[in-house]
Amino acid sequence: MNILVLNCGSSSVKYQLIEVNDRKWLARGSVERIGMSGATLKNVRYDGDEITIAGEIVDHIVAIEYILAVMLSRNHGVIEDKSQIHAIGHRVVHGGETFTDSVLITDEVIKGIRENFELAPLHNPHNLRGINACQVNLPGTPQVAVFDTAFHQKMPRRAFLYGIPYSLYTQYKIRRYGFHGASHRYVAERAAELLARPLSDLKLITCHLGNGCSMAALEGGISIDTSMGFTPLEGLLMGTRSGDIDPSVILYIMGKEGLTLAEANTLLNKHSGLQGISGISSDMREIIQEMKNGDKKAKYAFDVFCYRVKKYIGAYAAALGGVDAVVFTGGIGENSPDVRKACCDTMSYFGITLDDAANESSETEKDIATPEARTRVLVIPTNEELVIALDTMAIVRAKRGA
Ligand code: ADP
Repeated sequence: MNILVLNCGSSSVKYQLIEVNDRKWLARGSVERIGMSGATLKNVRYDGDEITIAGEIVDHIVAIEYILAVMLSRNHGVIEDKSQIHAIGHRVVHGGETFTDSVLITDEVIKGIRENFELAPLHNPHNLRGINACQVNLPGTPQVAVFDTAFHQKMPRRAFLYGIPYSLYTQYKIRRYGFHGASHRYVAERAAELLARPLSDLKLITCHLGNGCSMAALEGGISIDTSMGFTPLEGLLMGTRSGDIDPSVILYIMGKEGLTLAEANTLLNKHSGLQGISGISSDMREIIQEMKNGDKKAKYAFDVFCYRVKKYIGAYAAALGGVDAVVFTGGIGENSPDVRKACCDTMSYFGITLDDAANESSETEKDIATPEARTRVLVIPTNEELVIALDTMAIVRAKRGA
C-alpha cells in the first residue's frame, strides 16, 4: 500500500511516498517558497535520482500538482497513475482536546481542525490547506490526520494543568498539550523491540532533540508528562526558542524595551535558545565547533542546553518512579556524542553510565550504556513519517473492513 505523507507549512510542503508494507520510501522531497518568487520542488527517488524544479507555485493546490507531476514523470517518477497513491497521511500540529488519536478526515474532522486554529495559528490553517489541496488533486483518496498533540492526551491532570485560575482552562483551553507525539511514539515502540521487552512493562524517558526539542515520560507506552506545553515554546532550550522561563521576565523585558506582544513572541521563539545565548548560531554543530574553538558564549549555550535535559531526566525519573531506558533521537540526539555525554554525566545515581566507545561509535541505532548499567541509554533515529503512514494504513484498512 502506497501512502503519501504530507507535512504542510505556510510556505512549504514536505512529502514522502511510502510503500508501507515494506516500510520503504519510494520518493521524498519538499516544495519551498510557496506563493513567493523562486519557488522550487526538490525530489529524491529511492535509487538516488535527484531533481530540482523551479516554478510558479502560487499555493498549496499547485504544490501538490507539482509533487504528483514528478511522481508520475517518466524520468523521475515512481508511479504510473494517481490511483497508485492509496491514501494520504497528514501531520496536523494541534488536535487540542478534540483529537486523542489519528482519524480519517471527514467534514466533521475538518471542522474540529478549524476549531483548533486559535491554539496553533501558525500551523493548523496550513495543515488544512494541504488537506484541501489533496481533495482537489486526488479526489476520493482517503486522508488521515495524525496529530502532534494526540499522543500526550492521556497525560494526567496534575501534569497538564497550569497554576492559573481553572476558569482559564475551561474557557480558553489553556493547559499543557505537548508535541512531537509521532516521534516519541516511534522511538518508544522501537526501544521496546531493541530491549526485547513489552512496551507495556517499560518506563521510558524519550528525548527528541532537534531544532525543536521535547522530552516525554512514558509509562507502559503512555505519555504521563512531556516538556512542551500550551505551545512548543515550553521546556528544553531549543535552536531559537527559550524553553522554560519565569513569565515575569517577559513582562519585565516588554516594559524595559517597549516591546509589543508580537515582538515579545518573536524574541522568545526566534531570537532565544542556542542562538540567543551564543549570538552565533541556532545549529548545534556550529555551537560545538565554536565551543571547541574556545568561544565562551557557545559553551554557555551548550551547557544550558544539556543541563536542562539532565534536569528533566531527573524530574521524569521521579514522575515515573524509576526508569528502564533513556532514548535519544532527533538531529542532535542522534548525532551528537558530546551532547549525550553531557546530558548523562554524573547520573550513575539513576543507574545511568555511558560506555564512551559505544557513544562515539558510528552505528545509527545503538545502546550506549555500559553493559552493567541498570538503566539502558538508547540512540534511535526517529521516523515520524513512518508512524503517519502506518496509522493511515491501519485507519484506511479498518474503514474498508467496516
Ligand atoms: P528538525 O527539528 O527541524 O527536524 P533535526 O531533527 O534535523 O531538526 O535537528 C537539527 C539539529 O540537529 C541542528 O541543531 C543540527 O545542528 C543538529 N545536528 C545534526 N547533526 C549533528 C551533529 N553531527 N552533531 C551535533 N548536532 C547535529
